[in-house]
Amino acid sequence: MRLIRSPRTFTRTMQALRRRGTTTGFIPTMGALHEGHASLIRAARRECGVVAVSIFVNRLQFGPREDYGRYPRMLAQDARLVRASGGGIVFAPETRQMYPHGFATRVSVERLSRRWEGASRPGHFPGVATIVAKLLCLAQPTTAYFGQKDYQQCLLVQRMVRDLDLPIAIRMLPTVRERDGLAMSSRNSYLSPAQRAQAPVLWQSLQLARQLIRAGERRAGRIEAALRRLIRVAPEARVDYIGIVRADTLEPLARLKGQVAILLAVRLGRTRLIDNCLVRVQ
Ligand code: AMP
Repeated sequence: MRLIRSPRTFTRTMQALRRRGTTTGFIPTMGALHEGHASLIRAARRECGVVAVSIFVNRLQFGPREDYGRYPRMLAQDARLVRASGGGIVFAPETRQMYPHGFATRVSVERLSRRWEGASRPGHFPGVATIVAKLLCLAQPTTAYFGQKDYQQCLLVQRMVRDLDLPIAIRMLPTVRERDGLAMSSRNSYLSPAQRAQAPVLWQSLQLARQLIRAGERRAGRIEAALRRLIRVAPEARVDYIGIVRADTLEPLARLKGQVAILLAVRLGRTRLIDNCLVRVQ
């Protein structure tokens, strides 16, 4: 496995692979890799000749009071996980290489980025879209892989790639969970033992929503109220948002119909967790 620091070397390496007819898979990450990332790498490896993983804590997507400074950084351990999962290249640039002096461009995906994470974290999605656009231009992979864990981000990337005619396939893969249902996340390491014990409430509320829908409930307001009641049982949990939305546009629904996404953001102390599920409603 190769560790590459320089953007130019990364591009040249990926170009050389393509010239030889090798299909390339690419997975952008911020590191502190876990089984969720590993599942993306393994899926990419099944479909592509070579898999590259970028590890870059992207300052642009963090708000001023967010956790950029304390986001976990553990490159050596991450490189081992990439190798063990079948990845062939780790691209880990420095911030000054990605955002040199004078960098002034932001990529903004309208509409899809307005609500939910976009509303709670101003500047987050322009930061995400800018780094993903840059990384896709550097890597020029056959296929790029993203996790459903960040569903709004996936939709945004799909939209951007279509709008900018980037010749790259985008694949979304299922969320990998701990045994108790908590979606794996690099941020789970911030939780105190008491908060970790409460964290499965996100998954439990998504399960409750599914049960209510299966039992015939179609009123979004009723479902949201039931979820809020359940989340309130966890003493430190504070709902940031509950979105019961059309899965394609993320616009809120009053009555559930068609492909529905349920989006959750919950704070546990200073840690903010997100999760979601997709439900087809007749
Ligand atoms: P991050 O390092 O958090 O920026 O995530 C990098 C990629 O891994 C994104 O496409 C995430 O959606 C994906 N990812 C993160 N956690 C999970 C998970 N638990 N299951 C599946 N994919 C995940």
